[in-house]
Amino acid sequence: MTGRRGEPGMTVQSILTAKGTEVVSTSAKATLREAAEAMTKGKFGALVVSESGETVDGILSERDIVHMVAEHGAAALDLKVGDAMTANVVTCNRTDRIDDIMAQMSERHFRHMPVIEDGKLVGMVSMTDIMRKKLADLHHEASALRDFIRGH
Ligand code: AMP
Repeated sequence: MTGRRGEPGMTVQSILTAKGTEVVSTSAKATLREAAEAMTKGKFGALVVSESGETVDGILSERDIVHMVAEHGAAALDLKVGDAMTANVVTCNRTDRIDDIMAQMSERHFRHMPVIEDGKLVGMVSMTDIMRKKLADLHHEASALRDFIRGH
């Protein structure tokens, strides 16, 4: 694998092609209880906070909810998403290389990155999506090697 920038299989776009572009967002005015319910229902670990559904106002991950529960106890569930979210969101583009995104997540200690195009939300990539893609690529490569050996 050469890993050149823009190579389709190596970019964020290849993940969006596999998983789709739907992003579930929440409002800063929603409660943490509502956010936790949405995360459980959708089976994901973070929600983009957006009033318009297009721009990114913040990100709320399960870790933010755990943090608030540790600090405020059960009362945390009635607090607002806006009180717990991270407002300074690191985003990426469709053409970014997956390895670069992975390095950023690892360095900055988070597992989710909204994908932005022309200032608008067009997808979400998580560490799980990246792991899934890496595993699929490894299977693909192993199968190509097996075919090569069998054919010779
Ligand atoms: P995570 O590991 O993604 O569950 O998130 C850990 C912490 O990083 C939480 O406080 C999140 O709000 C925050 N966080 C998650 N994703 C991002 C992101 N793309 N940019 C900035 N902060 C983030």
